[in-house]
Amino acid sequence: SAPPSSPLLAHLNPEQLAAVTLPPEHALILAGAGSGKTRVLTTRIAWLLQTGQVSPGGLMAVTFTNKAAKEMLLRLGTLLPVNVRGMWIGTFHGLCNRFLRAHWKLANLPQSFQILDTQDQLSAIKRLMKQYNVDDERFPAKQTQWFISGCKEDGLRPGMVEARDEETRKKVELYQLYEEQCQREGVVDFGELMLRSYELLRDNASVRDHYQRRFRHILIDEFQDTNKLQYAWIKMLCGEHNAVLAVGDDDQSIYAFRGARVGNMADFVREFQVRHQIKLEENYRSYSHILDSANELISHNQKRLGKTLRTSQGPGEPVRVIESASDFAEANWLVDEVKQLVRDQGTEPGFERKEIAVLYRSNAQSRVIETGLFNAGIPYRVYGGLRFFERAEIKHALAYLRLLENPNDDTSFLRVLNFPPRGIGARSVEQLQDAAKAAGCSLHDAVSTLSGKAGTNIAAFVAKIDVMREQTEAMTLREIIALVLAHSGLVEHYKADREGADRLENLEELVNAAESFVTQEGFGRDAVAMSPEQQVATLTQSPASQGLDLSRPLIQADDPLPPDAETGETLSPLAAFLSHAALEAGDNQAQAGQDAVQLMTVHSSKGLEFDAVFITGLEEGLFPHENSASDHEGLEEERRLMYVAITRARKRLYLSHSQTRMLHGQTRYNLRSRFLDELPEASLKWLTPKQQGFASPGLGGGSGGGYGARRENSSASWGSSGRSAPDFASYTAAAPAPLPPQKAEPPQGLRAGMKVFHNKFGEGKVLTVEGTSNDARAQVNFPRHGIKWLALSVAKLTPI
Ligand code: ATP
Ligand code: MG
Repeated sequence: SAPPSSPLLAHLNPEQLAAVTLPPEHALILAGAGSGKTRVLTTRIAWLLQTGQVSPGGLMAVTFTNKAAKEMLLRLGTLLPVNVRGMWIGTFHGLCNRFLRAHWKLANLPQSFQILDTQDQLSAIKRLMKQYNVDDERFPAKQTQWFISGCKEDGLRPGMVEARDEETRKKVELYQLYEEQCQREGVVDFGELMLRSYELLRDNASVRDHYQRRFRHILIDEFQDTNKLQYAWIKMLCGEHNAVLAVGDDDQSIYAFRGARVGNMADFVREFQVRHQIKLEENYRSYSHILDSANELISHNQKRLGKTLRTSQGPGEPVRVIESASDFAEANWLVDEVKQLVRDQGTEPGFERKEIAVLYRSNAQSRVIETGLFNAGIPYRVYGGLRFFERAEIKHALAYLRLLENPNDDTSFLRVLNFPPRGIGARSVEQLQDAAKAAGCSLHDAVSTLSGKAGTNIAAFVAKIDVMREQTEAMTLREIIALVLAHSGLVEHYKADREGADRLENLEELVNAAESFVTQEGFGRDAVAMSPEQQVATLTQSPASQGLDLSRPLIQADDPLPPDAETGETLSPLAAFLSHAALEAGDNQAQAGQDAVQLMTVHSSKGLEFDAVFITGLEEGLFPHENSASDHEGLEEERRLMYVAITRARKRLYLSHSQTRMLHGQTRYNLRSRFLDELPEASLKWLTPKQQGFASPGLGGGSGGGYGARRENSSASWGSSGRSAPDFASYTAAAPAPLPPQKAEPPQGLRAGMKVFHNKFGEGKVLTVEGTSNDARAQVNFPRHGIKWLALSVAKLTPI
């Protein structure tokens, strides 16, 4: 093995070192956030390669997101002179896609099978339900989708589902029909990628054998969030000589709602007879105020495996907590704070924008924050949300491209059959669908059976696609996309649309995305595409050989070709690009390298770290989410989510909540999150005065029988008017300390001691009035709702 002096191993503590240099046997690292789990995993890969224990093609590593996979490859590239492109490092879905591409025949798929994302899947299900006249009130399409995905995650085909009641039987029947439809169209959804890979390994001994021999080392990050099927898939890949390194943290299990099983950790230890269990207890990420907050919060959970986590870094800055009057105010405060953080602070350099993250519980919250950042001219980047490849105009363009590859893809066919509009009405489409159903074929194949005007119009559409297919045959990917955009009529259509400018820009961006896909990523080609000699050549050419002993054989054994891989056959760039589009987050290329503030949900922040983190919308009903807050398990999962959020921060952490928030077109009045009351007071600094606890709203509970009816009144006076053009001037709560009292005449003639009426909170008594004009705010004690700070430019208080 490598000498301990190897630079690779220099920056590891003894436990980490032990984990990195374990013998090739199964092992579990169970450790808290920021303790270096991912670092150990990456370093172990590098160490295994460096010491010649495995070739780049002989290991597989599973990460949770594409972003994480990219980062891992990047790090490996800097640690070792190794060509990382062909390595099997990626998400479960990405790896399964690759696997099925290599074995499409055995998997009973067309070579250029297409991937349905969640949106496509839902519309495919809706289409099916319509076709079979299924009552969508009794069986909402979303529920059916949930059911099907759930079955697949549990490894169940329709015939295997136990249907005890009529309703389940109906769902199973839909599942069956859906499967047939997908098979006919040559498309697979995300769950299918996983399930079919698993089944192929299960049912085909020679393929299974091949991969068991090939992947001597399997490394899995974020193991606590694997589901039943993923676990079973890993088991299939393991024969007698494999070594699985699983890395996880039960306190960060946040996908139970999607079938993740923390229990996989215990099963793994038992079923794989894991001898090496390693704990990492030092957190290298955060200052202690942040870590103490995380530790104290998570101690409120009962179901825990139990770990300790400490840091030897100093206390750092206290965690700042702020209450705002509205979500606009919150955003405005955030913008100011971001500006502060970025600016040089005396001798300390400011933070980079990309080292600042704004986290929220649900995507809907991002809009107000985006508007604030946008108006302030601060570059930002949103992860998740509507992904680039999910935008309508992009989906349209992709649908045309998919039809070039696979005319039987009915989802794509229907999407663009009459888009841009070409006079094909709903009746014609129905006729076509009936014909296809009767003949048991795809829409494309049913066209010839149609007669009349409908037939002519639709045949013209099909001819158009066929011509494009011929024209693009010898073209590069970029040329293909440019041609399709023009000839499909999409460009013309959006040019004519007064609001189409953004969409046109996105379509141009699609060409760029394709371009960079081709040049940077290759076509996601399998490692088998590179011969061992080529791999050695790439390895030895690179100059940066950090402590690498080049006399050692880096490639020990040939990576044998899988049994059914036809040599030389690769996916067309277009087909490869299309699966990339379905699997990747599709980050806007133009933004990719920019130093921008990072916006994302807490879920997608898992595994990442930032210098400064804002957790916004810490309100009951939002975080913890109302869907989860009522049952114990749900609440514990929300708390783990909060634990994940807190532990993303290195140096600065801000927690913010707002008294009112506009969500889904409604103004909501929320109490602050209970999680704020579960943090150690000694680590917090309240920027606005801490109000009474969340558990006991109401000071002495006035009876106020008359409130109910009046509260039914519209809440229009509360900022709903500012929705389309947020009024950031209404923000008041920025000051770190309460604003100094102003001499000027208080607004609305309000004075301390006055009794006032508020639409939502009812009667209250003014305690303080501060600020002037737009900055004015009042502190009011509402017997039924507690003490509130209200922005007077937004809130209407009527003296009574
Ligand atoms: P999470 O649970 O959030 O995924 P993790 O356990 O995977 O966290 P890492 O992301 O691997 O933790 O590490 C956290 C940070 O600590 C990283 O910046 C990493 O580089 C750093 N780090 C890890 N180990 C050490 C070490 N021995 N010395 C210095 N820094 C370290
Ligand atoms: Mg990690």
